Amino acid sequence: MTNYDFDYIKDKFVAYAKMNTRADEHSTAIPTTPGQVVLLKELLHELEHLGLEQVSYSEKDAYVVGKIPANTTKKVSAIGFVAHVDTADFNAENIQPQVHPDYDGQTIELGHGYHLSSAEFPSLKKVIGHTLITASGDTLLGADDKAGIAGLLGMAKYLQENPEVEHGEIWLAFGPDEEIGQGAKRFDVSRFPVEFAYTLDNGDPGDITYETFNAAAATIDFYGTVVHPGEAYGLMVNATLMASKFVSLLPEDFVPEKSRGYQGYILVLSNEGNVDHARVELIIRDFDTAGFKQNKALIKSLVAQFNQRYGEDRVKLEIHDQYLSPGDVIKAHPYVVNLVHHAYEKMGLPIHHIAFRGGTDGDFISQKGIPTPNLFNGGANFHGRYEYVSVENMVLLAKTLTTIVQTHLELNDRRDETPLTR
Ligand SMILES: [Zn+2]
Repeated sequence: MTNYDFDYIKDKFVAYAKMNTRADEHSTAIPTTPGQVVLLKELLHELEHLGLEQVSYSEKDAYVVGKIPANTTKKVSAIGFVAHVDTADFNAENIQPQVHPDYDGQTIELGHGYHLSSAEFPSLKKVIGHTLITASGDTLLGADDKAGIAGLLGMAKYLQENPEVEHGEIWLAFGPDEEIGQGAKRFDVSRFPVEFAYTLDNGDPGDITYETFNAAAATIDFYGTVVHPGEAYGLMVNATLMASKFVSLLPEDFVPEKSRGYQGYILVLSNEGNVDHARVELIIRDFDTAGFKQNKALIKSLVAQFNQRYGEDRVKLEIHDQYLSPGDVIKAHPYVVNLVHHAYEKMGLPIHHIAFRGGTDGDFISQKGIPTPNLFNGGANFHGRYEYVSVENMVLLAKTLTTIVQTHLELNDRRDETPLTR
């Protein structure tokens, strides 16, 4: 048996972290930035090098996919794993990854006057003795999600070097523009023929996320009637007052500042206007699909009430879904989560269900019919200069993925379909 290749995982991570793959929400290109294409093409070659089959890049969705063929005669469905190549909205010019072997718990000098200390970031205490990688103070590191990529390659290399480890078909996918919520929306999943998949995007070892917010955005326009105030009796309709009245009718306690865990909210982003025209912009967030629908219905019914009271077409509503929680899709396939529970238990990892208060690639992929929870990638302090990753945790990720694949082979015929609870 060859073991997981620590240096390979570390070196791949460092090489990919140096590449500027910052997404750009103002670009309409696919992917939004050319740096992402450079990394995607690099990954294409790496997958070929690791012996994957049907490796391809599509310019339509900017995903690289490839298959590790099954090496068993047992009948078992295909599993997929997904990581994203882009990084968050923070400086990514000239990233200089710093490797800190045998982290001793002391404060790390990042450079440019910045420090990483366990007093400020207690999660560092969990990685004492590990080899840490940080950036150098003026950029992010991009462990979100290059740690997921490195862990996934670590699994592929391990399986290539240990053909006696039995497994079914495994598909890998690397995609763009997760950070701006665009990449997975375009993913042509006919290129990814799996029964279910997992994203490896942030989180600690043992985490699993299968519920996120359902998200919608609304713009409400109020149209007034402007008349000279001295002559306004019975004629003027004030758009600003209509808008203020509207906002005052929203549920008072359903706001971000009173929301945590699995609670949702309506956030009024702006309320601006004059007598002639006013505009209210708001977003709705809810884990619970029924609650999400209710709150969208509330906005619609308030608009209808206003039009009844002030006259038809005084108020116009534009409302659209931004992303939908994978919760309902995944709860209909509890095996996808229970399988991970069994794999984590085998490895002695503590199981944590995370209520993810944002969106993920799994939201879009699940809506396309492939149940896709998120696991973890071994990094921390994402999206800024204090980001770090432990190489040991990326190795642990590689090992966890192998364990999931092996557990699937064992349990495929006698699936644990226990309903999911929070
Ligand atoms: Zn991410």
